[in-house]
Amino acid sequence: MDISVVVPLYNEEESLPELFAWIKRVMEAHQFTYEVIFVNDGSSDSSWQIIENLAKENPTVKGISFRRNYGKSAALYCGFDRAQGDVVITMDADLQDSPDEIPELYRMVKEDGYDLVSGWKKKRYDSKLAKNLPSKLFNATTRLISGIKLHDFNCGLKAYRKNVVKSIEVYGEMHRYVPYLAKNAGFKKIGEKVVIHQARKYGTTKFGLNRFVNGYLDLLTLWFLSTFGKKPMHFFGVVGSLMFLIGFVSVCFVGGNKLSHILDGTSAPLVANSPYFYLALTTMVIGTQLFLCGFLGEMIARSSSERNDYKLDSTINLD
Ligand code: UDP
Ligand code: MG
Repeated sequence: MDISVVVPLYNEEESLPELFAWIKRVMEAHQFTYEVIFVNDGSSDSSWQIIENLAKENPTVKGISFRRNYGKSAALYCGFDRAQGDVVITMDADLQDSPDEIPELYRMVKEDGYDLVSGWKKKRYDSKLAKNLPSKLFNATTRLISGIKLHDFNCGLKAYRKNVVKSIEVYGEMHRYVPYLAKNAGFKKIGEKVVIHQARKYGTTKFGLNRFVNGYLDLLTLWFLSTFGKKPMHFFGVVGSLMFLIGFVSVCFVGGNKLSHILDGTSAPLVANSPYFYLALTTMVIGTQLFLCGFLGEMIARSSSERNDYKLDSTINLD
């Protein structure tokens, strides 16, 4: 099979028939063999009935339905898990992404050798300030931390080589950072294509402004996990040691000061009057806690079932 289109959706009943008809038109015009996997993320409207009806008439329609709303990442995860096409394309259900982009995305993965091609909504049709400005900031930060040169990480329209989606695990709210997940899994060729973006035709956006707060936290988590996930002590140990060093120097200072006064026979100032005393106290307490975090982290990392789960690219004479 050439293409799997994975469509996560939450209460998008009005858009679905139109979306599928459009995808079908494009696929047939280019003679692709394909499947469309609709992942119903616990919709409370009639989205699932519509998918069932579509599937009755079209064997290319497949569906997964969650009993409750788990979020876009969960929907993508289940879609990726079942996808069988050589190229997997994700697309929002709200008709903001155009299926006309599919053939070119497919070509970029197949012929230009990209592992992942991300859409770039160069000209956006979302409510101006509420989205565009924070979105620029979001993308700039993500570029900086992930080291991937993409303009639009959060674009729903993306194309993947099949083994990319089988090697990564999208969870929580990580759907915004799939390129970063792919990079951490060792896929280097990540490209981008300017795509047409349309205003939402039906329904309303499912994400509020809190996406940006949560987005930053997720980015930090990903950065931490990709750098220190397998060796947490290298992070906590270094910061903890630094704290201890500051504490040690402060103690020497306070103690030395007191000693020198005693040796001189002059009246020594109270140790607790020195700011260095408090500095030593806090940094040493924090340092101890950081070390404890490090040891706990190491124990968690060691007992993780994935601790030796490496994604092999290829082997020779071994199976
Ligand atoms: N979506 C989902 N689960 C959710 C929220 C959204 O599957 O909990 C789907 C939604 O139906 C749409 C896509 O994710 O197909 C993108 O959502 P939306 O269009 O609301 O986001 P925006 O375009 O505003 O970024
Ligand atoms: Mg949308």
